[in-house]
Amino acid sequence: MSKQTKKVAIITGASRGIGAAIAERLAQDGFAVVINYASSATEADALVAKLQAAQHEAIAVKADVANSSDVRRLFDETEQKLGKVDVLINNAGILQMASLAETSDELFERTFSINVRGTFNTLREAATRLNDGGRVVNFSSTTVAMSLPNYSVYTGSKAAVEVLTPIFAKEMRGRNITVNAVAPGPVATDLFFNGKTEAQIQQLANMPPLQRLGQPDDIAAAVSFLVGRDGGWINGQVLRANGGLA
Ligand code: NAP
Repeated sequence: MSKQTKKVAIITGASRGIGAAIAERLAQDGFAVVINYASSATEADALVAKLQAAQHEAIAVKADVANSSDVRRLFDETEQKLGKVDVLINNAGILQMASLAETSDELFERTFSINVRGTFNTLREAATRLNDGGRVVNFSSTTVAMSLPNYSVYTGSKAAVEVLTPIFAKEMRGRNITVNAVAPGPVATDLFFNGKTEAQIQQLANMPPLQRLGQPDDIAAAVSFLVGRDGGWINGQVLRANGGLA
């Protein structure tokens, strides 16, 4: 491995959707990027090939964020192949809508395992392995500010992520590491479209005063700001990137 001069960013869940847009944006910003995924190997490899063809530095690492030994290996492989870890973007997450009464034990477990335990696993690893001067961005959701029916377990999981964020920021005292969360409103990805009718999609798209769905690039731009030079004084905050929805 040649000496790594670029800052290195791990983006969890970067094979598709918002995570893929973040990986592209941070690569353009000059980061070496680690595209983590759980099952979409074809998409992750295609994104690595696209970034490498544009002379960016990128690798793909399969790891289930809900599994602590997978997460340890994600950091191990990053250090082995790219030399260090400077930035962690905790983007991986799942949403399955259901009323609380209809939420199965399995859905509760899966949602909290990926959205909360996944974030916990990577933060715990980052606590000892992130370089001084590093950046962490967690992923919440604007649903936390909206109390929408059929989002109880998902919103509960994201509320937990919001609470972890300023606590971890304080625990990083003295290391010049910032820890923030981005809480998107509706964004045009599989996670948002799945399980919704066209009418529901249109209704949600019209809710923000900017009257459109967010695009993955809108969220990637907010992350780019938080991990870049100009975001350095923002710490322990939740940024609701949602076109003014709530
Ligand atoms: P998405 O299109 O469904 O993509 C999810 C990504 O997460 C995929 O790359 C998926 O990879 C990965 N992933 C899922 N489970 C994983 C696991 N256990 N370990 C590692 N990776 C895993 O979702 P998205 O819309 O981009 O959402 C990204 C984040 O934004 C999530 O945290 C979500 O809650 C949040 N968010 C989204 C919206 C929205 O409207 N889209 C709104 C608010 C918040 P595989 O395919 O390989 O599993």
